[in-house]
Amino acid sequence: MKTSLTFLGGAGTVTGSKHLLSVGSKKVLVDCGLFQGVKDQRLLNWQTLPVDAKSIDAVILTHAHLDHTGYLPLLVKQGFRGPIYCSEPTMELTQLVLLDAAKIQEEDADHANETGYSKHKPALPLYRVSDAEAVFKLFHTLLPEQWHSILENLMRVNLTNSGHILGSTFVEIETGGKSFVFSGDLGRAHPITLKPRATLRDADYLLIESTYGDRLHPSEPPIDALARLINATIKRGGTAIIPTFALGRTQDILHLIAQLKAEHRIPDVPVYLDSPMADKATAIFDRHASWHRLSSPDLRRLSNTYQHVASANHSMSICQSKEPSIVLAGSGMLTGGRVKHHLVARLPHEKNSVILVGFQAAGTLGRFLQEGAQEAKLFGKYVPVRAQIAEISSLSAHADQREILDWIGSFAQTPKRIFIIHGEANAAEGLRVRIGDTFGVAPHVAKLGETVYLED
Ligand SMILES: [Zn+2]
Repeated sequence: MKTSLTFLGGAGTVTGSKHLLSVGSKKVLVDCGLFQGVKDQRLLNWQTLPVDAKSIDAVILTHAHLDHTGYLPLLVKQGFRGPIYCSEPTMELTQLVLLDAAKIQEEDADHANETGYSKHKPALPLYRVSDAEAVFKLFHTLLPEQWHSILENLMRVNLTNSGHILGSTFVEIETGGKSFVFSGDLGRAHPITLKPRATLRDADYLLIESTYGDRLHPSEPPIDALARLINATIKRGGTAIIPTFALGRTQDILHLIAQLKAEHRIPDVPVYLDSPMADKATAIFDRHASWHRLSSPDLRRLSNTYQHVASANHSMSICQSKEPSIVLAGSGMLTGGRVKHHLVARLPHEKNSVILVGFQAAGTLGRFLQEGAQEAKLFGKYVPVRAQIAEISSLSAHADQREILDWIGSFAQTPKRIFIIHGEANAAEGLRVRIGDTFGVAPHVAKLGETVYLED
């Protein structure tokens, strides 16, 4: 049967992940993410997908992050009605992610219309809460570590832990005598709170992410780096802003902060988790104990270490507070959400710090700050950047080059063909060369919009 892969996102970039597997007349989309960052790519979110959404038979999600799920409401708007397969925690977290994204888009559009800073009159959200909710009835959860037949037995699917965020999985597909592995985002070899990623036996075709494909994470333990940066900020009487969404790394960081406080390695300053969804995310963590390594006392200590900021008013009062504190607020790449108000208040003062803990995609405010921007554009105005901008890349939930190579090396047989996805140009190229040298294969760096036909 004629088989092909089409890269509709997450190719040449780390956002917008959408990989279409076509087998005969059937089509399955692995991940359905939103583009973030560079404007040309963000504009793609406003366009109809180049493939008729009605012709897609199923979606399979690797994990809940917005850049892997955030386009689902638009896919449904365009007529997709098939099942969305994923693990149970991924379903629960994706519901939170989509509701949060829709709310942020509605709030940002309202704020733009009230203050008149947008060029668009009126400013419109990409989608609304009702569009997000329309996705929910399509979810079908699959138990991990076992094969499931889908599409009238045309395909078998197996989801196995990828150790990236709660519920994240590799997607293994067998169809027409061929086997595929979609890595999604590949977790670290030794994650802080999650169970380590699984090793897989074999695959004819591997699609491997390359976010950190050309570099290694620093060797300083993340807890030491966190203690160093928080202590320096508090000593200056400042506030440390840690941009992160309410799930995934947030639980890692809260766990480390709780540990640092318990060991008296940082002062007992208030820790705010500024996200309307945060408590629900922690509860989901609590419910899915088989996916992580935190004990009940660990989780209780984690929950007691922070104050949940539910309302926008409470959020604004924290922005005005003179008391040193630690604030975790989304989004992680500073592309939207409550963190923007904290930045307006904190960036102009040297005593404060912004601690970046995840990959910052090209074109995002997080990337501009990381590269030393002197001003940040927030709500249509320029704010001077005098706060300390720091990075702890060892807190990343993505494998670095060594960890990617080790994982591929753990296959009993090297995959016949390797496609490099989900990475900016230098990272993808760096990984292509290293995979070629290490395994004696010639990987292909996927291009946005490209279709590759697979031989029988
Ligand atoms: Zn991710």
